[in-house]
Amino acid sequence: MIRLDKFLSEMSGWTRSEVKKIVRTGSVTVDGNEVKKPETKIDEKLSIVRVDGRQIKYNKYEYYMLNKPKGFVSATTDREHKTVVDIISSSEKKDLFPVGRLDIDTEGLLLITNDGELAHRLLAPKNHVEKTYYVEVSGILDDADVDAVEKGLDIGEEKNTIPAKMEILKTDIQNNISSCYLTIHEGKFHQVKRMMKKLGKTVTYLKRVSMGSLILDSKLKKGNYRKLTEQEIIELK
Ligand code: URA
Repeated sequence: MIRLDKFLSEMSGWTRSEVKKIVRTGSVTVDGNEVKKPETKIDEKLSIVRVDGRQIKYNKYEYYMLNKPKGFVSATTDREHKTVVDIISSSEKKDLFPVGRLDIDTEGLLLITNDGELAHRLLAPKNHVEKTYYVEVSGILDDADVDAVEKGLDIGEEKNTIPAKMEILKTDIQNNISSCYLTIHEGKFHQVKRMMKKLGKTVTYLKRVSMGSLILDSKLKKGNYRKLTEQEIIELK
């Protein structure tokens, strides 16, 4: 339950005092009944609130899945480059931010939201949220590399990386290139690139394909985004 004036100011962007005036004029209905008391408690998820007949829907938070293209930084503002938040043009809210970072040259799944609590949970190191990357490297990946990432690598941090999973997809000896899926449970700075470097390989292409339960929608073209479905939101939480 939430106060009507709080609900309306959060959903509409009006200030509380503007909302109070609007409510007192009699423009607001809750479940079809005129309500003139701003302090009236409503069920934010179930009550149907209308202002001058227009329904104000409950959506405290926004959740977008972006297929990040190269050239954008994972930040809310930047002096030099466009940010991933700049791509989300349809938002009425101004407080969106990316959940975690992808390097400027990394592509793929990025969750953009204004739900700080969810972001905190997904990023908290102790929660070890799984992230899978599609990786192309110069060099030949082999079983020894799979074992090494499974054991943990010294990439110059206090502790070795925690066990990760590598699935080799392709090795091309003639051209000295390979590709794999790499699933890690941490989010250290440049982690995938540093892990590959430790294995003597250089990342030439990097794309995140999943984070926790969230899987990049294969229909989303590079630079496109969509709202998360109700189901995706529930599963992430
Ligand atoms: N690891 C990297 O090296 N870069 C990214 O963008 C993400 C993970």
